[in-house]
Amino acid sequence: MKIALIGVGKIALDQHVPAIAGSEDWELAATCSRHGSVPGVPAFTDLDTMLAAHPDIETVSLCMPPVPRFDFAAKAIAAGRNVMLEKPPGASLAECHALEAMARAAGVSLFATWHSRAADKVQGAKAWLQDKSITRAHVTWRESVRKWHPGQDWVFEPGGMGVFDPGINGLSILTEILPAPVHLRSATLAYPENRQTPIAARLSFTGNTSAEFDWREEDRDVWDIEVDTPDGTLALRDGGARMEIDGADHDDGQPALGEYPRLYVQMADLVRAGAIDMDLSPLVHVADAHMLGRRETVEPFDF
Ligand code: NAP
Repeated sequence: MKIALIGVGKIALDQHVPAIAGSEDWELAATCSRHGSVPGVPAFTDLDTMLAAHPDIETVSLCMPPVPRFDFAAKAIAAGRNVMLEKPPGASLAECHALEAMARAAGVSLFATWHSRAADKVQGAKAWLQDKSITRAHVTWRESVRKWHPGQDWVFEPGGMGVFDPGINGLSILTEILPAPVHLRSATLAYPENRQTPIAARLSFTGNTSAEFDWREEDRDVWDIEVDTPDGTLALRDGGARMEIDGADHDDGQPALGEYPRLYVQMADLVRAGAIDMDLSPLVHVADAHMLGRRETVEPFDF
C-alpha cells in the first residue's frame, strides 16, 4: 500500500522513514513538507497538490506538531484518505472527536498512534496485570528537552503541551496496562516564567496512582512505570522496552519488533479492516491536569 509522510522533521526522519522502509505492507510514495524531504521520494510542499497528483496514495501519516495537524487531517479525510496521527492526536479533545466523526462519515481509517504503547513489553505487562488488584502505580518520566526537542520552541507555545509531550507517552502505557481506569484528582504544573507550557508536572490519580514528569533531567532518560500488586511489583523500564517482576527481568516471549514498525503493522491492519482506533484516554488526563492543576512558576528556560 502506498503511503505519504506529511511534515518531514525530527520524528519522521528518525522513526517513520526507517519503519516504512522495513515494512512489507507500505511503500513511501511521496512526502509533503514545506522544507523537509526524503532522498529518492517525490516531494511536495502543498497537500492539495499532492492529493490531486496521487490518487494512488490511499493513506497519509501526519508527523507535524499537534497544533497544525488538524487542518491537514481534515483535508486528507475529506479527500477520502486513511490517516495516521502522531501523538498526541490533536491539540484539543474536541478536534480529535471532530476528526473521528469525519472519518466515520467518510468511511476511512483513522489511527491515533501512541508509540510508547507499541513498545515491546507493554502487552506482556498488560497481560500480567489483567487479573491482579493494584495497590499502587507510579509513572516517572524524566528526560532532557534539549536532547529530544532541540530548539523546538513550539513545545513551549500554547498547544505544544510542554512536558506532557513526553509525559503523555507514560500515560499512554498506564492507560493501556491498568486493569481498571483511574482519573485525575489533582496536579501541580511548573511553568518557566518565560514560557506558556509546563516544564515539569506532578499528577495524583484515584487508585493510589501518581505520575511525575520533568524535562530538566540532563543526565539520563528515566521512563519507568511501577505497579504494586499483592502478587508482586511489575516495573516497565526504558519506556516499555524492559519488564521486571520483583526486580528480575521478565521475558514474556513477545518478539522484539520496536515501536514504530509495530505502529505501521497496526495501521496496515486497520486499513485492511476499514477500522478506526482513536483512543483518547491519555489526552483526557492531560486535559484534566490543565483543568485541575495548581500552577508554580519556576526559573526561565532557554534552549
Ligand atoms: P518537528 O521536527 O519540530 O516538526 C516536524 C515537521 O512538521 C517540521 O519539520 C515541519 O516541516 C512541520 N511543521 C512544523 N510546524 C508546522 C506548521 N505550523 N505547519 C505545517 N507544518 C509544520 O517536530 P517532531 O519532533 O518531529 O515532532 C512532531 C510530532 O511527533 C509531535 O507531535 C511529537 O510529539 C511527536 N514525536 C516526537 C518525538 C521526538 O523525539 N521529537 C518522538 C515521538 C513523537 P516543514 O517545515 O518541512 O513543513
